[in-house]
Amino acid sequence: MNKVEAFLTPAEEKEIISAIRIAEKNTSGEIRVHIEASSEKDHYERALEVFHLLKMFNTKDANAVLIYVAVNDHKFVIYGDNGIHNVVAKDFWDTTKDAMQNHFKNGNFKQGIVAGILKAGEELKAHFPWQIDDEDELSNEISKG
Ligand code: CA
Ligand code: CA
Repeated sequence: MNKVEAFLTPAEEKEIISAIRIAEKNTSGEIRVHIEASSEKDHYERALEVFHLLKMFNTKDANAVLIYVAVNDHKFVIYGDNGIHNVVAKDFWDTTKDAMQNHFKNGNFKQGIVAGILKAGEELKAHFPWQIDDEDELSNEISKG
């Protein structure tokens, strides 16, 4: 499995996109998913780079979250913008990470991503509740590297 397309079936991609839609009904935060085979760089650095490449700093409240997954490296990073960092505790993403890890451990790749998205949406709700004038500021499509 080297091609990113091989990681998810079209049906699984749809499920992930619909999870993003559901999660974004809980929060004004924007969630995106980036999947690639592997990275030579440190995964956190790479996630930050992808965050910028996708122009994810372009939200009104600086509350976008990137779920970055390097499949062959068995690594993932949850990177939230400064608007989130400024108001949450350091361990804020632990529940989201745990939700993902449990599925990944069992080889349920798609399910792990979906669980992470939904958990992130729930966690963000407390600090960034959905509002009536909410806009879908960032695409819900999966980004592939
Ligand atoms: Ca939104
Ligand atoms: Ca969105």
